[in-house]
Amino acid sequence: MSDLRERALALDTEDALAPLRERFTLDDTVYLDGNSLGALPRHVPARMQEVLTREWGELRIRSWDESGWWTAPERVGDRIAPIVGAAAGQIVVGDSTSVNVFKALVAATRLAPEGRDEILVDARTFPTDGYIAASAARMTGHRIVPVAPADVPDTVGPRTAAVLLNHVDYRSGRLHDLPGLTAAVRGAGALAVWDLCHSAGALPVGLDEHGVDLAVGCTYKYLNGGPGSPAYLYVAERHQAAFDSPLPGWTSHADPFAMTPGYTPAPGAVRGRVGTPDILSMLALEASLDVWDGVRIDAVRAKSLALTDFFLECVEAYAPEGRVTSVTPAAHAERGSQVALRCEDAEPVMAELIARGVVGDLRRPDVLRFGFTPLYVGFADTERAARVLADVLGAVAA
Ligand SMILES: *Cc1c(COP(=O)(O)O)cnc(C)c1O
Repeated sequence: MSDLRERALALDTEDALAPLRERFTLDDTVYLDGNSLGALPRHVPARMQEVLTREWGELRIRSWDESGWWTAPERVGDRIAPIVGAAAGQIVVGDSTSVNVFKALVAATRLAPEGRDEILVDARTFPTDGYIAASAARMTGHRIVPVAPADVPDTVGPRTAAVLLNHVDYRSGRLHDLPGLTAAVRGAGALAVWDLCHSAGALPVGLDEHGVDLAVGCTYKYLNGGPGSPAYLYVAERHQAAFDSPLPGWTSHADPFAMTPGYTPAPGAVRGRVGTPDILSMLALEASLDVWDGVRIDAVRAKSLALTDFFLECVEAYAPEGRVTSVTPAAHAERGSQVALRCEDAEPVMAELIARGVVGDLRRPDVLRFGFTPLYVGFADTERAARVLADVLGAVAA
């Protein structure tokens, strides 16, 4: 047995999070795509069966009240809150990340001081954030300024209304400095809006501690909520009274069942709601969040860094010279929970990897992405993934 293989087995034995794997439905593939779609927590199907049979099938309309459907967006938000370092009452769940980017960004421009006409947007942002920001800017009369996150402190100024940043870059896996950049944005009198899709559930975020203004994120990646599970919106408590949603639906009304023609927003996080929530997805998410019971996010972060370090070390040791180069930062302070490898023939390589039971994904044209989800990926999995990758790189000619 190779040294790396032996070390992997020892690391798995010492890993206090290893038993969490039992909380998920897995098979003998190495699943390194939890940064696109998290694995299924084992107990969710039984819970969904109950929701369908009892709550929908038998109680029907009564479930809005008796099964707590109506208040699910705030209740599930409060379950996500500790994972992203937020006190209760500031997160509401519903709609997609794309829609929440729109709500957050337009609301940020309305919260910003008068006369500011620019929105700074992460130049390498996930595409949907960029499209939505461009449309929001057009609607609100702002100008988009693309900016590399590291240049935000030098770019933000008296004309900046809001700054929209990705906490972790979806392509390279680079982690941006949320505390420092938030301080720079707020120091210039603008609002910091963070997209947490690739960080929530993988590393500590500290929304309250670092004074973030608004944040959004999805729940089907590291939070394992299931395909298309609803996203969330964080509105810091200090902004809630003035938060003016561009999508003021009836379910965010202070008295929704009064059905009045005039809109009066509800207090608190509820103000971020729009229409009828997607209850089945919401309740699957709620059940899936049980896997976090007793889990500390700093322990998750420590394991994530150990896994990505170990993967990089195994790739370095096993892969044929010059076939792949890591585009994920080596420094821990700049690394999320994925490793992205540049590879000239990424497409056939990933297809062959998947065929051999190592599931990652691809960002065209030349990036192989491997997401490390510490709740259910171990060190032996990691070593195996690198070993199979090396075999595939040798077998598939560049
Ligand atoms: C995954 C992801 C999204 C997805 O948005 P949807 O509306 O759920 O499709 C948005 N932003 C970032 C940064 C992402 O990684």
